[in-house]
Amino acid sequence: KSKDKGGNVVAPYVPSLHAQAEERRVMEQELRGALDRGEFELYYQPVVTAEDGTLNGFEALIRWTNQTLGNVSPGRFIPLAEDSRLIAPIGEWVLRTACAEAMRWPSNLKVAINVSAEQLTDPNFAAVVVSALAQSGLPPQRLEIEVTESVFLRDGGGAAQLLDQLIALGIRLSLDDFGTGYSSLGYLRKTQFSTIKVDRTFVVGAAKGATESIAIIRAVVALADSLGMSTTAEGAETELEVETIRTLGCSNIQGYYYGRPMPASDVLALFRPPDSLPCAAA
Ligand code: C2E
Ligand code: MG
Ligand code: MG
Ligand code: MG
Repeated sequence: KSKDKGGNVVAPYVPSLHAQAEERRVMEQELRGALDRGEFELYYQPVVTAEDGTLNGFEALIRWTNQTLGNVSPGRFIPLAEDSRLIAPIGEWVLRTACAEAMRWPSNLKVAINVSAEQLTDPNFAAVVVSALAQSGLPPQRLEIEVTESVFLRDGGGAAQLLDQLIALGIRLSLDDFGTGYSSLGYLRKTQFSTIKVDRTFVVGAAKGATESIAIIRAVVALADSLGMSTTAEGAETELEVETIRTLGCSNIQGYYYGRPMPASDVLALFRPPDSLPCAAA
């Protein structure tokens, strides 16, 4: 119909923009009640040692199933939660749930959770972590908190101070998605991260033989080694990607090749002795 008005190509896009805003509004509204309705679940993805594939622990990844919206990926709703101040209660639920769940695993296994920059603007955050550890009984050494560089951009100095408080508690910090943002080396001097997580884009590139990706992974591994940090390569799906990462010297690997994110019950089943398997059929 817009063609009748003289070739106006803008008009057809207006309803779609409107629909986007409407979808956002509905999602935010549903997000508000999601915690109370118990719509969130944590999935856990294995992280293994690159050298021999032994299990080190799991990264907790949130999942949301809503009656109206169905399954919504964290890539879509986490940014919305961050913008609408809902991230604090959701993040606290993630922290407490992951700590409690990890207590049911063999005691050598760690659990990693993702924490948004917005959560670190709350001066109370370290106290919430202390409480979650105390309530669950999880030793701080078994908890890893993953942040991205965006925490340093958000507020001047406050986040770095908060991260220092967390380190003082004995928990580990990881720098997530390294290489995709500013990747300023200053952050690595400011904060004692245990692990640098190399983004999947470099893993994919390196396996395809892209010289830039290979050079960047090599440089990150060398930097981490000399700073006493470990490296985790994210998103390895194929044997070639796993072999490439191993050759480049990353300490740990996480990706579909070793396991997809799975429900808590599937994790527990991994530790059940095989002779008790018939129980699982019930
Ligand atoms: P992330 O922390 O970098 O998590 C890794 C993402 O890569 C996850 O996506 C995971 O499912 C996916 N992945 C793992 N292995 C592979 C692979 O081999 N191939 C491919 N293609 N993908 C792989 P997911 O679960 O959709 O989460 C996306 C992002 O949402 C996370 O990225 C994290 O930034 C955020 N997120 C997830 N859970 C939480 C949470 O509880 N709190 C906060 N604040 N953010 C979360
Ligand atoms: Mg992560
Ligand atoms: Mg990541
Ligand atoms: Mg990521």
